[in-house]
Amino acid sequence: MRLDKFLSSQGLCGRKDVKPLAKQGRITVNGVPVKDPGLAVQPGKDLVALDGREVVYAEHVYLMLNKPDGILCATKDDQQRTVLDLVPPELMRPGLFPAGRLDKDTTGFVLLTDDGDLSHKILAPKSHIMKTYEALLDHPLADEDVALLAKGIVLKDGTECLPAEVTPLNGNLVCIRICEGKYHQVKRMIAACNNAVLRLKRTHMGALALDEALPEGTCRPLTTAELEQLFQ
Ligand code: URA
Repeated sequence: MRLDKFLSSQGLCGRKDVKPLAKQGRITVNGVPVKDPGLAVQPGKDLVALDGREVVYAEHVYLMLNKPDGILCATKDDQQRTVLDLVPPELMRPGLFPAGRLDKDTTGFVLLTDDGDLSHKILAPKSHIMKTYEALLDHPLADEDVALLAKGIVLKDGTECLPAEVTPLNGNLVCIRICEGKYHQVKRMIAACNNAVLRLKRTHMGALALDEALPEGTCRPLTTAELEQLFQ
């Protein structure tokens, strides 16, 4: 892989920035300053450093974002801010996208990645990776609604949902776990119970919980252990 591609793929700089950085002697390969941005390097074998700091190569990036209300879960929009606008330059990668969308007014855990295969695995209902939501409802759910949701509720337009695990929390707050991601799914499931979602937050993807210490509107890379937790 070319040195300029190696460095830009890790989000450290743009591909065109590599030439001036190399000229300034700020890039070394195996301890030797290099001037040629086209030099072939082997990720995982050659030790590439920028300003004396080793660049540890990762093929893909996985970020946990704590999405605030009012931000679009999209990669680009002409008018509105998107989740990608919340990614700082040093974590940005080409091809980064949200793996599973939340509505503009839903908050909480969004996984941003450039790994299409992983995204597919997480979202496919047959992978049984549960997405957990905390929903504030207009009024408490009746026991028969919890039972209907657990069986697989039919939405008002006839769409059949897979079984959902619903646990009433305090008052009008419920925890809902689903393995699908249909459009407005939780809101429509609750509407099918003649109730309404007033506030919705995704708290978990698989066994991985949203880091509550992560301020709203910020993101951070997942650790390897956290990535594994997604699939537990
Ligand atoms: N279900 C919804 O209705 N909205 C979301 O954002 C996520 C799940």
